[in-house]
Amino acid sequence: MATIAFIGLGNMGNPMAANLVKAGYAVEGFDLVPENLTIAKEHGVTVMANAVAAVKDADVVITMLPAGKHVLSVYEDIAPKAKKGALLIDSSTIDVESARKAHAIAARHGLPSIDAPVSGGTGGATAGTLTFMAGGSDAAFAAAEPILKPMAGRIVHCGGDGAGQAAKICNNMILGISMIGVAEAFVLAEKLGLSHQALFDVASTSSGQCWSLTTYCPVPGPVPASPANRDYKPGFAAALMLKDLKLSQEAAQSAGAVTPLGAEATQLYALFNAQGNAGADFSGIINFLRGDQS
Ligand code: NAD
Repeated sequence: MATIAFIGLGNMGNPMAANLVKAGYAVEGFDLVPENLTIAKEHGVTVMANAVAAVKDADVVITMLPAGKHVLSVYEDIAPKAKKGALLIDSSTIDVESARKAHAIAARHGLPSIDAPVSGGTGGATAGTLTFMAGGSDAAFAAAEPILKPMAGRIVHCGGDGAGQAAKICNNMILGISMIGVAEAFVLAEKLGLSHQALFDVASTSSGQCWSLTTYCPVPGPVPASPANRDYKPGFAAALMLKDLKLSQEAAQSAGAVTPLGAEATQLYALFNAQGNAGADFSGIINFLRGDQS
């Protein structure tokens, strides 16, 4: 079985690496944070001294890092030292331009690569049910698919280099906008004397139905598993939503797309974050829209 290097063992990377170990792969991991390495070790990951040591004997390298600059810096370090023909998979959420640069670094060293960001959060990472959105050549995707399987519920080949990142930020722009729409409707319902449950019962089976309502309802009660029922503990932190919305706006600007609701959602999440809510679940924006200080 292939040896996999896993670089970036944070909230997402650690449970993803654990699922690869469970599937029988030898996983050699590295992270800058010692506590994350301790957790990785408990999951059966072989901890390496640095990224270059981790990739030296690996057939596949997976990165799960905060942003484009981290991915490009790690790729510059590891690509010249990776095993001949090793497959590079970047699952971080990063801007499309950096993703394409990462592919170019890999290609310069004769390494196949895909961008494969995920949706499904830490719950999906632990359960092995993430949705992977992949960009890259048919051959690179075919090689990556069996590696991704133990971590995935669904794997979609979206197109060429950067297409996975493009799909991810378009999806999350829908999510940010739809959450604000659902939250606004609940705030209006409150003012009109309509109960949360009544609005939910109607909208969840009517044309207002969407994931932000039926899976992630921003008021406590109608969907018991949603973060609203646990004081908006994430879940999906508002800081990450803001990050993804900013990526969508950068992409819109460079591609010449007009996205006024995406721009407005970015501004509202920036304000929500600035009021000390970066660590709260993004559905907590309902409190901000209501004018609550919580
Ligand atoms: P995290 O901050 O918990 O993990 C990132 C890890 O990368 C950290 O442990 C950090 O120490 C490590 N790191 C940074 N630079 C490094 C380097 N040069 N070498 C080795 N390690 C390095 O973040 P996360 O929540 O795991 O998210 C990772 C990526 O996944 C992000 O791009 C995020 O946007 C995306 N994502 C997160 C979620 C989520 O719900 N958390 C969902 C989907 C996608």
